[in-house]
Amino acid sequence: MNQASTPNDDFFGHPIGLRTLFLTEMWERMSYYGMRALLVLYMTGAMTGFNPGLGWSQLEAQAIYGIYVGMVYFIVIPGGWLADNILGHQKAVLIGAIIIMLGHFTLAIPIDQTFFLGLIFVVIGTGLLKGNISTIVGKLYSDEDGRRENGYYVFYMAINIGSTLGFLICSYLGEKIGWHWGFGAAGVGMTFGVIQFIKTRHLLGAAGAEPNSMDEARRSRLVLWSKISLAITAIVIIAGLVGLYTINARAFAEGFYYFLSFVAGTYFLYLYFFAGLTSEEKKSVILLGLLFIGAAAFWSGFDQSASSLSIFARDYTDLSISGYIIPIGWLQFANPIFVVIFAPVFAGMWTQLARKNLNPSLPIKFAFGLLLMALSFVVMLYAVELALVSSPVNMRWLILTYLIQTWGELALSPVGLAAFSRHSPKKYVGQMFGLWFTASAIGGVLAGLLGGDALVEGLDSISPVFGFMVQYYVIIAVALIVISFLIGKTREGKES
Ligand code: GLN
Repeated sequence: MNQASTPNDDFFGHPIGLRTLFLTEMWERMSYYGMRALLVLYMTGAMTGFNPGLGWSQLEAQAIYGIYVGMVYFIVIPGGWLADNILGHQKAVLIGAIIIMLGHFTLAIPIDQTFFLGLIFVVIGTGLLKGNISTIVGKLYSDEDGRRENGYYVFYMAINIGSTLGFLICSYLGEKIGWHWGFGAAGVGMTFGVIQFIKTRHLLGAAGAEPNSMDEARRSRLVLWSKISLAITAIVIIAGLVGLYTINARAFAEGFYYFLSFVAGTYFLYLYFFAGLTSEEKKSVILLGLLFIGAAAFWSGFDQSASSLSIFARDYTDLSISGYIIPIGWLQFANPIFVVIFAPVFAGMWTQLARKNLNPSLPIKFAFGLLLMALSFVVMLYAVELALVSSPVNMRWLILTYLIQTWGELALSPVGLAAFSRHSPKKYVGQMFGLWFTASAIGGVLAGLLGGDALVEGLDSISPVFGFMVQYYVIIAVALIVISFLIGKTREGKES
């Protein structure tokens, strides 16, 4: 599947197909983060005034946000299965991108009734696109090609350039002109991504073009089962949309959290006890299980950028710069901008440490990420104290929070993705990739639940929740460090 690349057809020294994936992911993340930054603000916005929102309670809106983020990352698993077995990854990405585009345009319709339909489209489309596009990146390189890791690093840049654009454009239009203009802008961004993908898809060559080979009888059976499952899902969704049943968002989010934890836990137990793994592979499964818990905890704080922290920015932060009130979502592009600035620093740091044989092991890096996440919420606890005395507070506190969280992200996220592809038992790599995104799903749901709890009584209820989070980050980080010492693995590539 290797794409030959010559000096004339490369992309920063990578196969030219990476350019296609880079731009598609950039536009997709522009639309995803741009719309996500508006979501809670729109749901909790007052129903009257210049830019009327839906007027929902914090508890409900944050729960819906959590379910949305959780679903986006959970649907990556069936999306990956469909691509592997039926569609092929390229087709899955294209169909996903088109569905996402339709979702954002549905949200752009200036009526409330189509809101959930739009969200459902974006969830399904992202499920088809997000994991599969990451898989095609890997397929651009042969197994021996040393550029693969660096290719993922270039791809991570696409994610962050895209989200910067999203916050910049969608937040401005959504907050200053009208919510639905912001949603529409996300749709226009995704349209650029779709056109670009169609025009340059041929550059991907065979990478991800075909599904796994299998005999046709089996494939037809799988197609039939997929169609039946899709039809049942569609009926359940339509019944909900036309009001045949109603859902309590908060209770659903809680149930979804338990469901995801149960699925992930059962899968790890299955792998350990029943998958016929060697003792070496079993050790890796334990390691990945620990990283999974660390990642889920990490995202539960990180994803509050568009939930509780966004409301803190709206209600308790001074957003004026030389007299101009910036859109609330603009504070969030601190994260992607800091990623672009600091990613090379972190990559260089690990390489330097590795040279001296001091590269920390994966659990230690994750613990470091979690401690930084804890520290970021300590900053927020201080900001809340200030706001209790005199509100609004300076925006520097949120920017500092995002800076520290970004350092945490860089210690954990790219490292975790690479770890799941390197340490997963060979036969199960695809599914383990899905599991990595399940950690994001659990984190997303928790972000909605914790964000709701934090804001239920305005400023007063924030500190107990953030204080609790700081404690659980520290406990998990310490547990990871202790376990690393117990199993004698504190450095990467070396038993200490
Ligand atoms: N910021 C990264 C992305 O959008 C990772 C997000 C996550 O896994 N929760 O791809």
